[in-house]
Amino acid sequence: MTAAIIDGKKISEEIRSSIKKRVDLLKENGVTPGLAVVLVGDNQASKTYVSMKQKACEKIGMHSVLITLDSGLTQEELLEKVDELNHDSSIHGILVQLPLPSHIDELTVIEAINPSKDVDGFHPINAGRLMTGGDAFVPCTPYGIIEMLKHQDVELSGKHAVIVGRSNIVGKPMGQLLLKEHATVTYCHSRTKDLAYHTRQADILIAAVGVIKLITADHIKEGVVIIDVGMNRDENGKLCGDVDFEDCLQKAAAITPVPGGVGPMTITMLLANTVQSAERFLSK
Ligand code: NDP
Repeated sequence: MTAAIIDGKKISEEIRSSIKKRVDLLKENGVTPGLAVVLVGDNQASKTYVSMKQKACEKIGMHSVLITLDSGLTQEELLEKVDELNHDSSIHGILVQLPLPSHIDELTVIEAINPSKDVDGFHPINAGRLMTGGDAFVPCTPYGIIEMLKHQDVELSGKHAVIVGRSNIVGKPMGQLLLKEHATVTYCHSRTKDLAYHTRQADILIAAVGVIKLITADHIKEGVVIIDVGMNRDENGKLCGDVDFEDCLQKAAAITPVPGGVGPMTITMLLANTVQSAERFLSK
């Protein structure tokens, strides 16, 4: 068996074209969805992500604003900027690019964002609503993964999903979303004993770790669907995931590549969340 390659780029193009129709409709009603991205300092990776997000917005006719701030600014100054955006009616989504400089407390900044503009879905109100079943902005990466699995017609109900990684932005919300789809969920992390024992039970395996080639053919069972979230650089600077792609190819039923898998979906769901926010604004 050779695994089907899940083409995140193609799926995200399909979703983006339907989001564009929603943008056009909003514009006809006098609302241009607006995303503000706040970038503090000059972390190269952050700059790249931010520029990709901006280009994606512009391509579908959304309004996008980039606010670049010096890494030496105080937490108070950053909070003032966030407050300004909270009150800006042309902005429906606010994203503060992480990581922030070490003298700034990330959670304080995230909590300062108006939850109704928190299109990253990191605010505790949105995280709580995701858990309790309320109307929440869902963090873009796990949201994109669920959409990708649905597009691929992967059965989730009753399946055993194993997630490696328990971060607030990927692992934990991923588990909540899979539970909602009636999967049985297992979380693994750095203290998990015998990782391979757990991952071999997976019908669906999500690797969100940040360790190159952590998952090999020995970690999986025949017919698993693998989602590789990892975005790592190897010794030659090449982008690669957490999964040994070549090694798993003959055993898995389907697998996402890196690049071209989860990455494009993450940006797409950011657009979806911002448009959803603008639609809510219009309906009020
Ligand atoms: P974090 O560093 O916040 O979390 C990593 C998780 O992996 C932690 O829960 C950690 O456990 C666990 N872990 C670390 N080492 C091991 C190990 N050897 N065995 C098992 N578990 C381990 O990372 P993120 O969740 O933010 O990101 C994960 C990866 O996904 C990164 O490569 C990141 O770049 C990528 N990413 C990709 C995105 C995309 O759009 N494609 C978006 C977001 C992230 P513990 O909690 O015990 O420390």
